[in-house]
Order: sequence, then structure tokens, then C-alpha cells
Amino acid sequence: MKLKKKIPLIDQHDKYGFWGGKFGGSFIPETLKKPIDDLTIEFQKLRKSKSFIKKRDFYFRNYIGAPTRFIKLNRLSKHLGGAQIWAKVVSDANGGAHKIYNATVHALICKTLGKKYIIGDTGAGYAGKMLSMAAKKFGLKCKIFMGAKDIKRQKPNCDAMKKNGAEIIPVTTGSQTLVDAVSECMRYWVSNCDTTHMCVGSTVGPNIFVKICGWSTSQISRELKGQLLSEFKKIPKKIKLINCVGGGSSAYGFWSEFIDFPKNQIELIGVEAGGPKNSKLHAAPLSRGARLGILHGAASYVCQNTEGQINETESISAGLDYPGVSPLHCFLKDTKRATYTFATDEDALRAYKLVTKFEKLNPSLEPSHAFAEAIKIAPKLGKDNIIIVNSCGDAKKDRDILKERLSKK
Ligand SMILES: *Cc1c(COP(=O)(O)O)cnc(C)c1O
Repeated sequence: MKLKKKIPLIDQHDKYGFWGGKFGGSFIPETLKKPIDDLTIEFQKLRKSKSFIKKRDFYFRNYIGAPTRFIKLNRLSKHLGGAQIWAKVVSDANGGAHKIYNATVHALICKTLGKKYIIGDTGAGYAGKMLSMAAKKFGLKCKIFMGAKDIKRQKPNCDAMKKNGAEIIPVTTGSQTLVDAVSECMRYWVSNCDTTHMCVGSTVGPNIFVKICGWSTSQISRELKGQLLSEFKKIPKKIKLINCVGGGSSAYGFWSEFIDFPKNQIELIGVEAGGPKNSKLHAAPLSRGARLGILHGAASYVCQNTEGQINETESISAGLDYPGVSPLHCFLKDTKRATYTFATDEDALRAYKLVTKFEKLNPSLEPSHAFAEAIKIAPKLGKDNIIIVNSCGDAKKDRDILKERLSKK
């Protein structure tokens, strides 16, 4: 497969939403067809509307706090003694992570369509927390579908959602986790779509949700492009953009403006969650050999057993603990435009320790996976190489687990 020039990736294979002819699509029950078709038509109009884009940019600036910083990590680079390491500090964003971009756009869509209710699903609770924040900002009533088991495990995030005025709907079917929360959320949407808008928290799910999310997080790479130009006068050679990949929304947002650059100028590296060092469990469908399957309404590489049952996953970072991955990343892997690798829990912890030792930066465990890869390759590269890591989350949310894991050693 060759990438078509000039057409943004997000618009390629638009007709059926199958990137590369095989990833993505909309595998949905018949009852969901109408709300999804309606939303698709509305979003195609909104994304071209000057006034909607103006509104989006206004809230990105004044509510989220864009642009986030682009900084050189001098001390870390010097310590490693190779490539220059830079960070795009996306965790500066309101709420401490990139998920707020997607949540804000969904709240704006909801408001523009004249709907008063917004719903979403959440696993670890971060997507739910961000959606509840955006809903509060725009005066929308918010319901978050969450597995009963997850509610028990993620009390701080549940408390935050309630504080923002959201109602948490416990899902007690199936495994009582994210998979069931997604199904329940969709079921609710079918019966209430006249008054209610639905949000999916990453570049996953039926095609339209991949698109809306990618369109939202692409703000990150628009900013970075401008910041590279003002720092270096032109886009330099020998850049590596390293990003952690769970569902893939922060990585896609970080890369989207650079996908059409030649690979030998801008390399794209995705880092998945390799899980605990001595465990078979992981959340790395792209780098540890998963097969094509269907999850949450889209075809992608999915961690599954030989019968197609979704595997249990494990990772120290709740944000990366997902058995599937965005069809966009499956496409970038198959076309070899991006490469994917993984970091283990231990690698991420070690990277966290090193980054925080040398820099005034507090990356959460998800971007610590990306830093692990940067730390691994930087010493082997010359000083004219530029590694940029998307520091997409703040470690405040990981305080308890960091305390527990770092005190053991
Ligand atoms: C949710 C989350 C992720 C994983 O989601 P993506 O869609 O892959 O970006 C990564 N980092 C942080 C900080 C998160 O909150």
C-alpha cells in the first residue's frame, strides 16, 4: 500500500471507513445505523464549518490552554550522551492529559446539535472524568457507563466524575468492565439518540468516532509543527516522534501533521504496554503479534485467543490497558509508515525515575513507556538527531501506584 499524497490520512478510504481496505469500518447492530449515519453527516458538515472551527480553537486556547509547551530536556540529553531529547508537554492541558481535546469537541458537537445529554463509556475512569469536565463546562447533563468492577477499582476517578455532576451508570453484565460498559452505552444511545450525544474516548470504535477523536487530538501536531518552525526555522531532518499507544489517540494526534513527511526525515515510533516483565499478559497488539479481529465495532489487531475471545490484558498504566488499538495505527503499521515496539512495566518505572531525576517534568506511567524507548535509543544516536516524546499525561493521577512500586526497590 502507498499513502496518497495531499489527502489527509483521516480522509483516506473515506467511503467505507476502512483504512488500508481492512482496518476500521462500522460493525454495528442495525439499530445503531441511524444514529451513526446522522452523526456522520453532521460531523462532515461541522468539520468544514468555519464557525465551528473558530469555536473549537477558542475553547482549545481558552479552556484547554493550548498551545502546550515544547521544551528541550537538556539534562536528560546530556546524561544519556546522544540524541537531543525534547518533550511536547501535552500534560499542561486542562485535566492533565490529551483526552480533554476529544471530550471538548464532543461536548461542542452535542451543544451544536441542540442535544442536552452526553454519554460515554470508561474503563479506568480517565475518559469519563474528562467527559464529565467538558460536560460541566458546556452545561450538559452527563452519564458515564462504567463496569461495576471498574467502579470499585477506580474510586478517585468516580469521585471526580460525581463532583463534576455526572451520573455513573454501573454495568453489571458480563465481565463488568470496559467491554460491557461500551455495549451498554451504545444500547442506551439507540433508545435516546434524539436528545443524547455519545462520545468514545479514543481513536477506536465505529469509524465516525475514530474520525472525531483523530480530528480533535491532531491539534497536538499542528502546535508542534509551528513550534518546530519557530525553534529551527524549518522542519529539521532526523526527527523521531515517540508516543505511547493505548487506543492510539495521543499518538495519532502527535503524528498526524507529519505522516506525509518522508520516513527518513520524520520517524514515527509507537510504544505499547508490554505488561509485567515475567508475565504473558500485555496490552501490545501491534508489537507482540496479535491477529486481526473485531472489537467495539471496528476491525483492528486485537489481543485474542485462537477462538477469537478477547484476551485479558495487563499493564501498570491503566490508560494503556486495552486489548485493541486504533485502525489508524494498524494502517500505519501495515504501510510501514510507523513502527511499534513495547516497554514493560519495569522499563516504564525506570524511565519515570530517570526523567524525574533530571528534569522538572512529571510524566504519568503512559508516557513513561515512550520515555523508556527514548532512553534506550538516544545514546546510540548522534547529537544531530532530535527525539521528541509526547509527555501526554501528568503523574499526579499515578501517585499511589508510583509510591507503592518505587518504595519496593
Ligand atoms: C488514556 C491515556 C492514554 C491512552 O490512550 P490513547 O488513546 O492511546 O492516547 C495514554 N496516555 C494517557 C495520559 C492517557 O490518559
